[in-house]
Amino acid sequence: MSSPTYSIIAPIFNELANLPELHRRVAEVMDQTGDSWELILIDDGSTDGSSDLIAQLAEKDDRVKPVIFARNFGHQIAVTAGLDYSQGQAVVIIDADLQDPPEVILDMIAKWHEGNDVVYAVRAEREGESWFKLFTASLFYRIIYRITDVKIPLDTGDFRLLDRQVVDVLNQMRERHRFLRGMSAWVGFKQVGVSYRRAARMAGETKYPFNKMLRLAINAVTGFSYFPLQVATYMGFFSAGLSIIAIPIVVIGRLAGSQAFFGQATTLIAVLFLGGVQLISLGILGEYVGRLYDEAKGRPLYIVRKAPDRPQKDR
Ligand code: UDP
Ligand code: MG
Repeated sequence: MSSPTYSIIAPIFNELANLPELHRRVAEVMDQTGDSWELILIDDGSTDGSSDLIAQLAEKDDRVKPVIFARNFGHQIAVTAGLDYSQGQAVVIIDADLQDPPEVILDMIAKWHEGNDVVYAVRAEREGESWFKLFTASLFYRIIYRITDVKIPLDTGDFRLLDRQVVDVLNQMRERHRFLRGMSAWVGFKQVGVSYRRAARMAGETKYPFNKMLRLAINAVTGFSYFPLQVATYMGFFSAGLSIIAIPIVVIGRLAGSQAFFGQATTLIAVLFLGGVQLISLGILGEYVGRLYDEAKGRPLYIVRKAPDRPQKDR
């Protein structure tokens, strides 16, 4: 069997209610292209029977390729597996909850035909999300933009089209703590955006609670910047500078007979301040060292229970 023109990748974590509609809408859109396509559904350790439904879909439609994980590995790793197993000339990453309308894929394909290698979707509007999510997401993209070395386009998610050349490069980047939007900006090539309205989730709850969002944010920062480590240095200079200024002031004050800076409170504040600076710096260092350790262990990024025969990579 020859490889298809397009691969559509959708990570699935307990999306039973969204799966049939996802398949229907993707098929409807992709059939309009007149080219061959495959839909890779990565089951990221669902517990709601999504994997059985994926198997059923694959039985009825041989363009559906199931990749079933042995447990939950997280969204970014699920997408990575999709990239590994994809065979298309252009690969599209899409959320399974239909927040990314499959119809936008046609716009992406048009840009791809114009010679672009990465076509990312920019969220012009977002529906049905809490102000907290909107606020933290917006803040997050702006902080990342400022402190990292790669210019990750603002308000983009993983919804994007990647040329085969880019996918092959990404598949060589086996880092464990992944931030795919950063990685796909880092590789370079010709990149362009299309704007779209991000819909509300069709069914179910978000699978990205606050702690997972925070993890992703820390992965993004540590993966693309040493800024937090530099902050530790700045804090060190700040507290050292403060003491250099304070010493002559206190000495002169004492000689002049001032009663200021006597007593426990001053000592306590100084000790707490320095202790705080040191512990924060240690914590920041720890985030980087922990990631180093994870890389050193070299475990596979994911474990599959069931997958198509011809993986591009075996991990
Ligand atoms: N997802 C996943 N593994 C996870 C969490 C999420 O594969 O551990 C999938 C989920 O099924 C969906 C996509 O990642 O297809 C995006 O998740 P979600 O819609 O919950 O995130 P949100 O849109 O709320 O940021
Ligand atoms: Mg969603």
